[in-house]
Amino acid sequence: MNAALSLRTRMMLLFCIVVGVLLAGSYVAFYVALKSVVRSQFDRRLMEAEAPVAADLESDADDQDIVAMNIPGEYFEALDDSGRVVALSKNLAGHVIRLPGKTQGLQRIEDPTLGSLRLGIAQIHRADGNRTLILAMPTRDIDQILARFRTLLLFLFPGSLLLMGGVAAWYVGRSLAPIAALTAETTRMADQVKVAPPGALPNQLPKNAAASEKGIRNDELGRLAEAYDKLFLGMDSALRQLRQFVSDASHELRTPLSVLQGETELLLREPRTPEEYQKALAVIDDELKKLGRIVEGLFTLAIADAGQLQPAREPLYLNEVLEEACSLVASRARTKGIAIERQLAQDIAYVGDEAFLRQLFLIFLDNAVKYSPSQSCIQVRLAASDGTVHVKFADQGPGISAEHLPHIYERFYRVPGVGGSESQSGGLGLAIAQAIVQAHGGSITCTSAPGAGSTFSVLLPCPAGDACATHLNKN
Ligand code: ADP
Repeated sequence: MNAALSLRTRMMLLFCIVVGVLLAGSYVAFYVALKSVVRSQFDRRLMEAEAPVAADLESDADDQDIVAMNIPGEYFEALDDSGRVVALSKNLAGHVIRLPGKTQGLQRIEDPTLGSLRLGIAQIHRADGNRTLILAMPTRDIDQILARFRTLLLFLFPGSLLLMGGVAAWYVGRSLAPIAALTAETTRMADQVKVAPPGALPNQLPKNAAASEKGIRNDELGRLAEAYDKLFLGMDSALRQLRQFVSDASHELRTPLSVLQGETELLLREPRTPEEYQKALAVIDDELKKLGRIVEGLFTLAIADAGQLQPAREPLYLNEVLEEACSLVASRARTKGIAIERQLAQDIAYVGDEAFLRQLFLIFLDNAVKYSPSQSCIQVRLAASDGTVHVKFADQGPGISAEHLPHIYERFYRVPGVGGSESQSGGLGLAIAQAIVQAHGGSITCTSAPGAGSTFSVLLPCPAGDACATHLNKN
């Protein structure tokens, strides 16, 4: 049954029970204290009124003084040793107050004629015989006061409980409002994520649930709502990237696939000469290689995304790996009349994954050859200092403007208007390069400007304690 109650109702119930018990306890304690004060004051008044009469009776043997007394609200009675009434104050008009068992002190009795009375009983010792002096005062007034107070408390208790409950309901409702708003927002976003076609997500998330006209709430709920907003924004951008990636990837794969389809359809339409088959197969081979590279690249990036790109730790000489990469692009560079100028420090020992590092260098060299104009020069530098290897690739290509620079590491991102259709990487080169460098704990920076060429710098830290540093000192 508890599960069916909302958090708000449960908080309210708990609050009302606690406040109800506390209120009832304090009201009862207050009433008991008041009653005790009122009664003790009444008793003091009674004793103060009885004392002079008792003193008088003790010193003066005449009981008739009592008979003459007629003070409103004060009834006197005197008894002798045998309990016989010897004097009654005038206002008793002959009515005898029956003394209960007690013979001294204070007592409360119910008199059939005078109602509720408080008695002060005093023993007076005299030579002609002892007397018992009784002063009776009606308690009607204080009983009425206490009764009125009880009634007041009886109304006050449910009234204040209702008021406190109302305030609590308002405050709890107000405090929990961000949670309700977050729940609504989360549900709405979950629905959108389920049904929205790519690009249909709202560009901006609605203001978070903790925001109000007075600004963001700076309490626990405000901070929770803010954290949720950040999470939503993160998820939103991850989702957009994923959708963009899927759309880009399918677009990239579609082009070679349609070329393949076209070529095979053409071949199958009618018998061809061996030369025609040869030509078509060369095109098919080219497109298959392109497809293979894209799939390979996607696979590498998927492994990197999963945090599983773990490079081997092989001892190697980076200058040798870089030389090898340069010689692999040399023929393509020669075809375009591009010179590759190398300044490579020797014996740069390093511990890393040779295949990945070769792929890394090839990506920069391939791009440099691809985007550089013919008869230009590519400079390749390799140096090491302070336990870090520096590799630099500088070309005289078209350069990259500042607005595109932050995006060139994104998958399938291409700077518009830049040539290089014979892409080796299928638009994934720099993304893969970054994944490889990060897996080796390094970083890439690019300085470039339109018309001024591009320089890609790779920093690779030498793993601590490896031979790298010792060898580097030689250069
Ligand atoms: P691609 O296969 O298109 O070269 P990359 O990820 O290697 O993919 O590069 C991303 C984009 O960055 C390229 O499309 C190109 O616009 C730009 N780029 C990369 N290298 C260079 C360079 N050396 N000179 C000019 N632009 C470059």
